[in-house]
Amino acid sequence: MRFGKGAATLRMAARQDRPQGSAFGAGWRPGALADRLAGRLDPDAEREFGLALDRTLSDALPALGIVFGIGVLLFGAWDYWIAHELATTTVLVRLSLVLLGAPGYFAWGGRFPVAWRCALVYITHAGAMVCSSALLPGGLVLAMPAITGAMFPLALVEPRLRRLAGLVLPPALLFLLLGAKVLPPPVFASCALVYALVLVLVAAVALFQGRLLRADFLAERALAWTARHDSLSGVLARGYLVELAGHDLALARRYGRPLAIAMLDIDYFKRVNDRWGHAVGDALLCAVSRACSTQLRASDYFGRVGGEEFVCVMPETGEEEALACAERMRQAVAAIRLDTPGGAVACTISLGVAALDPAHADFGALLAAADAALYRAKAGGRDRVALAPHPAGE
Ligand code: GH3
Ligand code: MG
Ligand code: MG
Repeated sequence: MRFGKGAATLRMAARQDRPQGSAFGAGWRPGALADRLAGRLDPDAEREFGLALDRTLSDALPALGIVFGIGVLLFGAWDYWIAHELATTTVLVRLSLVLLGAPGYFAWGGRFPVAWRCALVYITHAGAMVCSSALLPGGLVLAMPAITGAMFPLALVEPRLRRLAGLVLPPALLFLLLGAKVLPPPVFASCALVYALVLVLVAAVALFQGRLLRADFLAERALAWTARHDSLSGVLARGYLVELAGHDLALARRYGRPLAIAMLDIDYFKRVNDRWGHAVGDALLCAVSRACSTQLRASDYFGRVGGEEFVCVMPETGEEEALACAERMRQAVAAIRLDTPGGAVACTISLGVAALDPAHADFGALLAAADAALYRAKAGGRDRVALAPHPAGE
């Protein structure tokens, strides 16, 4: 399964949310049993899982659809074998329904939701099997294993029960309608019973498959989160921050948009460790991360780049706004009071702000400018914000 890295990931990082787990074991409500069996996730994770599944389906649909279409058409040979005088009609039925569903194989530039495309392909193709078999003597009974069997691979790629039901029920209803017309009542009754039984089995396969895919999704998401975030504070890890910033910097350059960064460092942090111990120092690092993150806009992001050094990247932000944001972070940190058995611990930070300029060769150069400004803030007495001069020196 393919999982995208989107703005949601950034916001999750800025807010320091951690990936949520499965809601397995949540309270009772209608449909809860199916949710429990499928290992349904919390709403946000479930939405993300659904999007990942849709991407996988969209990628697989051309190949799966064409294989299904060819399979349905090849059954024309079987029609010929059962009743060659009817084969021309049944093959025409197959061909026209497969052609009707074929547009669903293609993505059409994302204009049509993948759910519609799946429905178009599956319902027309399974419908082709049902309609053509109904025209043959005893065809519905003979083709029933193929018609019902096609639902199993479908349950593997679309394990969401409601979506699956939307796909398999229309051909099932068609089967019942035509079966009631062409089959003797006892045969029809047994076919209906077997069909219903297969539907239950398909639902069970879908539930189990959904559970496996969700577990896989959670594991992959947790792994990605761990690789991209600082394990202590939960903010972005240096490598991921640099990767994202490099991308935003390229965009800002290309479209001539502003971008600014703030580098910050906790003042006299060593003294905190020495006086209160490393555990309190760690807790203070987390408190500073939280205080700064709450001052950011949704498009900004914040990461830990060293022991007690952090960087905030502010796309679409000019010098003045960046200075204001840095000042808000400084004040938010100054207001921290960390309660410990030995008393309340407070701290301050110094910040260096640098705005993107054409002279900055890359993100490293911008970072160096912010670092130099930070050094000036430290030298100027700490607990303050300093702005990097423009590289040209204007
Ligand atoms: P300055 O105002 O000049 O920045 O002084 P400072 O004491 O903050 O600077 P210095 O770089 O000398 O000290 C940084 C300290 O941060 C040293 C190191 O022990 C501590 N540190 C680095 N990473 C961690 C961490 O993960 N947890 C804790 N508790 N301390 C850390
Ligand atoms: Mg420091
Ligand atoms: Mg430092």
